[in-house]
Amino acid sequence: MTTELGLPSPRGGTSRDPARPADPRLVDGFGRVATDLRISLTDRCNLRCTYCMPAEGLDWMPRSEQLTDDELNRLIAVAVHDLGIEELRFTGGEPLLRRGLEEIFSAASALEPRPDISLTTNGIGLARRAEALAASGVNRLNVSMDTLRPERFARITRRDRLSDVIDGMAAAHAAGLSPVKINTVLLRGVNDDEAADLLEFALTHGYQLRFIEQMPLDAQHGWRRTEMITADEILARLEERFVLTPSDEDRGGAPAERFVVNGGPATVGVIASVTRPFCGACDRTRLTADGQVRTCLFATGETDLRAMLRGGATDAEIADVWRDAMWGKKAGHGIDDPGFLQPARPMSAIGG
Ligand code: SAM
Ligand code: SF4
Repeated sequence: MTTELGLPSPRGGTSRDPARPADPRLVDGFGRVATDLRISLTDRCNLRCTYCMPAEGLDWMPRSEQLTDDELNRLIAVAVHDLGIEELRFTGGEPLLRRGLEEIFSAASALEPRPDISLTTNGIGLARRAEALAASGVNRLNVSMDTLRPERFARITRRDRLSDVIDGMAAAHAAGLSPVKINTVLLRGVNDDEAADLLEFALTHGYQLRFIEQMPLDAQHGWRRTEMITADEILARLEERFVLTPSDEDRGGAPAERFVVNGGPATVGVIASVTRPFCGACDRTRLTADGQVRTCLFATGETDLRAMLRGGATDAEIADVWRDAMWGKKAGHGIDDPGFLQPARPMSAIGG
């Protein structure tokens, strides 16, 4: 069932690899178990971050290709009931652009056992929706913000909307969607002098800041390893103003390496996918808005669950094909391999 991107895949029945153990969970050949499902609700976005997509946007996925709410709810139920998924993180594109998303969250929060539900958003429109999101079952939010300066925000996202994002965070915090986490990507010569200011802002407001190393997932393939700001650089910049000590809390499968700030209790995180990869502890599986399972952000193949749904497959058949897909997950993302190929899907269509 795993296909190269762009090729149609046949409707499959059960296709169990004989080497795969009879474990109902999403185990892979390296002993990892996926319990965290990242779901992209849409590939569309109302910002145009330079490290993510071009100014003119992308050819958005036709609506007919996107999973309907019923299809998505069914896959989520299979993931929780049959595959042992414990956490759902909704993302995109910009997830708040998906109509009816509160109903999707309500359906997910009614599942038993109830999964943990979180959302990664750019924060546009969040201020007026935070209460409804909390009421629909969302537990926590990550809001992306790369700068505290409006003119820089406009340069990075190509939209002048910084105040919406800051208001959105405050509304989320007030609605109890805590801890509010901030995701920041630093770009050389653009906002890399703001690391400490951003941490100061997060500490003042009771938010948790996490820096994400820039990854080769932009639609325009403009990423250069020599240009990216590394975890070492981020930490050095923070240490000019703060005392950081590595957190001794068990990181588990969490992508962020955490550091205690000035003796605690506040922490700051660094997601160093490029320079300090954490693939060995990965507990994630991904579902795109058009119903493709991806075993990794950097996977070059996908497994088509939408074709199965639309072809009349049973829940048991879908679950088994998902297990097979995860069994074939690679050991690591391979960014450092000489033959590394950036995936055809950009981050905005995978779900970051
Ligand atoms: N639109 C939402 C947002 O921006 O939060 C959700 C989707 S976005 C793809 C998820 C996260 O991926 C954001 O925090 C964004 O900054 C990050 N991101 C996007 N492109 C990236 C890249 N090339 N490298 C590292 N992080 C990236
Ligand atoms: Fe949109 Fe998020 Fe990509 Fe920015 S990072 S363009 S907000 S999907």
